[in-house]
Amino acid sequence: MIEKTSLMEEKKKIFQLAKGYVRATTLQGHFNYIREKEGKEGVKKVQEKLKELGCYTEPWELDPLAWIPLAKVDFVILVAKDVFNWTEEVIFEMGNSAPKYSFIAKILMKTFLSLKRTFQESSKYWKKHYTSGELIPYKIDKKEKYLVLRLKHSCHPLLCIFYKGYFLRITQYVIESKEITIKETKCMSKGASYHEFVISWK
Ligand SMILES: [Zn+2]
Repeated sequence: MIEKTSLMEEKKKIFQLAKGYVRATTLQGHFNYIREKEGKEGVKKVQEKLKELGCYTEPWELDPLAWIPLAKVDFVILVAKDVFNWTEEVIFEMGNSAPKYSFIAKILMKTFLSLKRTFQESSKYWKKHYTSGELIPYKIDKKEKYLVLRLKHSCHPLLCIFYKGYFLRITQYVIESKEITIKETKCMSKGASYHEFVISWK
């Protein structure tokens, strides 16, 4: 477990990086995932830790469309990772299951029937959830079976893993292939001016 002092450091880092607001449905999704994976006791542990760190927002009574400061929502992932000693695979899995908890995602996915449409609309999709950052559908090649998404959005590096899982899930919704992979090929945490995700399938 990370010492409380270094969690405070991470908190500072997140608050410097994560600007703007995100829909409450995202925060609720994080807690839904924690409840599914670690049970009610697990949820309590994360709540306690967040309160201790002066950063708790009660998720259940919020209107899912309410705007919550993004840093507070991102911090929940970091605290949960610390409390349960989660690996990066779990963060990926958390991102991968996130769309199923978001009613915005559910509504939008009903209208995004094809891969091309989903790809084209991804930037709008991002804006429905976040007030900051920009998701750019950079390239799609159906013949070579890959697509490239660029994300201009400053965030804690742990979030890159979460987004990787998330983008993969959205692609899994619209491509039938069971062999879909995602790679982050550029990252703002490593000096690039955007994060770049390449998704390919067979
Ligand atoms: Zn990144």
